[in-house]
Amino acid sequence: MPYSDDDSTILLFGNDGARNPLDVLKRIYGYSAFRGQQQAVVEHVVAGGDAVVLFPTGAGKSLCFQIPALCRKGVGIVVSPLIALMRDQVEALKQVGIRAAALNSSLSRDEAIAVRRALSADALDLLYVTPERAVTDGFAEMIGDMDIALFAIDEAHCVSQWGHDFRPEYRGLDCLASRFPGVPRIALTATADPHTRGDIIERLALRSARVFSSSFDRPNIAYEIVERDQPRQQLLRFLSRFKDSSGIVYCLSRAKVEDTAEWLNGQGIRALPYHAGMDRTLRDRHQDAFLKEENLCLVATVAFGMGIDKPDVRYVAHLDLPGSAEAYYQETGRAGRDGLPSEVWMAYGMADVIQRRRMIDEGGAPDEIKRIERSKLNSLLAICETAGCRRQAILAHFGEAHPGRCGHCDTCLKPVETWDGTEAAIKALAGVYRTGERFGTGHVIDVLIGTVNEKTERFGHVDIPVFGAGKDLPARTWQSVFRQLLAMGLITVDHAAFGALKLEPEARAVFKRERQVLFRKDRPSSGKATRGQKSASARERSDLAGSDLELFEKLRAERFSIARELNVPPYVVFPDTTLIALAKERPRDFDDLIDIPGIGESKRERYGEAFLAVIDAFEEGG
Ligand code: ADP
Ligand code: ZN
Repeated sequence: MPYSDDDSTILLFGNDGARNPLDVLKRIYGYSAFRGQQQAVVEHVVAGGDAVVLFPTGAGKSLCFQIPALCRKGVGIVVSPLIALMRDQVEALKQVGIRAAALNSSLSRDEAIAVRRALSADALDLLYVTPERAVTDGFAEMIGDMDIALFAIDEAHCVSQWGHDFRPEYRGLDCLASRFPGVPRIALTATADPHTRGDIIERLALRSARVFSSSFDRPNIAYEIVERDQPRQQLLRFLSRFKDSSGIVYCLSRAKVEDTAEWLNGQGIRALPYHAGMDRTLRDRHQDAFLKEENLCLVATVAFGMGIDKPDVRYVAHLDLPGSAEAYYQETGRAGRDGLPSEVWMAYGMADVIQRRRMIDEGGAPDEIKRIERSKLNSLLAICETAGCRRQAILAHFGEAHPGRCGHCDTCLKPVETWDGTEAAIKALAGVYRTGERFGTGHVIDVLIGTVNEKTERFGHVDIPVFGAGKDLPARTWQSVFRQLLAMGLITVDHAAFGALKLEPEARAVFKRERQVLFRKDRPSSGKATRGQKSASARERSDLAGSDLELFEKLRAERFSIARELNVPPYVVFPDTTLIALAKERPRDFDDLIDIPGIGESKRERYGEAFLAVIDAFEEGG
């Protein structure tokens, strides 16, 4: 076998020799240069400083704590919230020759003893622990008289109640500051929300830490939001663009997750469900399959995704509206961590707005929190209803200016027409008002377009002036008008009154013609993909063509069989970016391999021969 599958890791440097960060980056990770502010963070922490790192997903946060841990004396302790992911994280580190281990409740007694022994023998570079364990006295005692390189607090937004992944155990982590003065701490998150950021600094006692933050733009993600029409067919058309890739489909309810997964399988798309109501073993198995297989659609509630570092998630689809712009950003952000082109898509309609509002109104939160939740939802609606660039709207929400026209979202690729809907808005608002603010959209639209039916007759609505006043527009357009009025905050839905529409005070200005109303023209959903793509594979989208693509597929097959044998996700062997470089550069000998991004000394040792053999065979075969 050309690679080694034992657990021993290669010790690349002496135990206490000073290591240079750039040297570590090259020799261990196989990358030639730091990205963005990585170097600044690394140098700051190596020098003993505390840091708060706020970079988007895919920016390369992991190296920001891993490299300082390798450059400083002692073991780096990484606090990470998800036991289920630790094994893969540790395995990925071992693959590059780093001595890593995890200490958590999933270990057997013997395994835990082995980890403890390695720790006290100074034979670990990185140790992953859960927050629950990190705060215990026992743990403090265990590492009490050891050299500690640093504490890294991953997914640091879990400390904030404001965010959507609150984990009470994170609250105790400020004890690390007092228990281990002088050990640098670095907190990392992809959360862009200013309030959550403030919480992290406050709650984790990082007031004197240096804050590193970067743009939250995810340039490799293409955004698309469509009006929901026939959601399943729409979803199927979206998924048809991803022939051989994995992705996530988010649904709001567990039942919908189950149904959708089952339906997709019936349509020939391999899909597995994931939600918090499932048996734990089964849930973990589905998560594992998602990480290890190459062509799987995971249908999930938001219970899935945090901390998933699978780099090649090629798409994220939303069948239901998330609760806030931040949640939408986080969930879609799980696509394209490797920087390769990825697409996110959402189908959305009036029913979502009503449902989300109801969840807020009927939730048990205090009024003040409800008010905040409503405004968070509204900021997402603004993104949904924008006629401008989606990326610009998303970044604006996080206080970041973007010139717009990104050329990489549905509204940029196919500009949305707007229409002056002031007259229509007045009619719609009058329809609500004249029927006594007691009815839902369906009935008000019936009145506007002049439908004679049992209900319009029974309430005498066939005789009021607005009856038939909106005959000039089809019911479909009225649906769109009401959805947008709701998103604009001109009307609201009263859940206590069975979903009756009510006027908001802002509606007055429209009635008095003091305010012009512009609506988006909804696109007829002809089913054509916006970009007119056929079912392009992810590789074709990453500029691979002809024989490069053929070779890529061969390399991919080799990676898959190695990964299967080692029982690790394929990306732990090599990420797609490395395979793409191999397919394009076609190195012929061992020395050339080191120039390929993602191939450091350890991986070259393990897999170099195997992949060179694939390239050789391909070149010979012509
Ligand atoms: P984050 O945690 O910020 O989401 P990761 O640490 O998972 O991002 O890194 C995302 C991807 O980018 C990984 O595949 C990683 O190996 C790669 N990467 C990180 N830093 C660099 C770099 N300096 N050069 C090339 N690739 C990098
Ligand atoms: Zn755009």
